[in-house]
Amino acid sequence: MRSVSIFGATGSIGVNTVDLIRREGGARAFRTVALTGGRNIARLADQARELQAELAVTAHPECYAALKEALAGTGTEVAAGPEAIAEAADRRADWVMSAIVGAAGLLPGFRALSHGSTLALANKESLVTAGPLLMAEARRHGACILPVDSEHSAVFQALVGEDIAAVERVIITASGGPFRTWNASQLAKATPAQAVAHPNWSMGQRISIDSASLFNKALELIETKEFFGIDPEKIEVLVHPQSIVHALVGFNDGALMAHLGPADMRHAIGYALNWPERRKLPVERLDLARIGQLDFEAPDPVRFPALWLARQVMETGGLAGAAFNAAKEVALDHFIAGAIPFPAMAEVVEQVLARLSCDSGLTIAPVDLDMVLQTDHLARVRAEEAVQEMQAQA
Ligand code: NAD
Ligand code: MG
Repeated sequence: MRSVSIFGATGSIGVNTVDLIRREGGARAFRTVALTGGRNIARLADQARELQAELAVTAHPECYAALKEALAGTGTEVAAGPEAIAEAADRRADWVMSAIVGAAGLLPGFRALSHGSTLALANKESLVTAGPLLMAEARRHGACILPVDSEHSAVFQALVGEDIAAVERVIITASGGPFRTWNASQLAKATPAQAVAHPNWSMGQRISIDSASLFNKALELIETKEFFGIDPEKIEVLVHPQSIVHALVGFNDGALMAHLGPADMRHAIGYALNWPERRKLPVERLDLARIGQLDFEAPDPVRFPALWLARQVMETGGLAGAAFNAAKEVALDHFIAGAIPFPAMAEVVEQVLARLSCDSGLTIAPVDLDMVLQTDHLARVRAEEAVQEMQAQA
């Protein structure tokens, strides 16, 4: 029986993963080693009961008692706190879904790879902050990483049977988000509720807002570079409002292989779950005649500076990705809390990158995870300072 663990089981990706596992037979077909979640204890307990999980972990120690009570008499072991989440990754599973949001997803993924597990990677922050270390960890333990981000799953699928040396360009698409046509003065007044309303995809709050600012696509540019080992100049972003084409790979003979599908993460999750096979998935089949038209446009670097910042990060390399992601997470927290306006998120990130480049230098390649986590911490401190200065000036 195949064993699985899901980190971030209660989130958008986690719930879709549980849905696919349920459709494949649930507890009859899979041994569920560990499920982790946050404050949604009722959902985590339901999932653990349904999949007869051996271990359920909440990230929050104050939620331990509630989880313990909800799972009383089930045989599921209960734990709480960040350390318990990392330890859950030490219980080896054949297939591990990494779907915690943010840099908190870094450690469990590393631990899972160290046990040779196949890592289905939704947590793009792992590659952005520590790409070379993560890929090296996988190689060291003969473990496999499968991309779950829709664009990267699309590229991965377009590359099956191809020689990476023949790849001339990789194009990842962006819907453009809810603010695609907004001007600068509208963007200055954008609220979190407006930013979270993604036109095509139903996702967690944070990635939805990152899609509106194009920070999500910025993270994905770096993710593409790190996962596929492709030069940044060969990676392009194309705005495609319908979100039907997820990525295109261009080869040296001029051919472009495009991956099309509905905006349903169960495709990418299912591909990773069934890989190297393809199996039936419960996603809508596209009716292209009804869709009629697919539009493409270049992204606007002035209204959406995140992409340009990502290019800078890729050029700097080293610890820049960790600083970029951490600064973005802090800026996003403050935007969600209503403390800074939408365009200020990019300003915060730009300032943090500039300050840390002067202070300590970001070009050093990290040799271990501690270096990455130190930079993450430092960037958060600098980002808080940048936000405070902005508020003082406002
Ligand atoms: P979400 O907010 O819906 O869920 C996040 C999960 O992580 C929840 O289970 C939550 O409890 C847990 N979590 C949050 N903070 C945590 C912490 N500090 N420690 C431990 N657990 C924590 O997020 P999501 O939309 O499912 O996204 C998850 C990851 O997948 C992100 O990295 C995101 O970028 C990536 N991703 C998501 C989608 C999507 O369609 N939702 C698509 C592509 C990639
Ligand atoms: Mg994506």
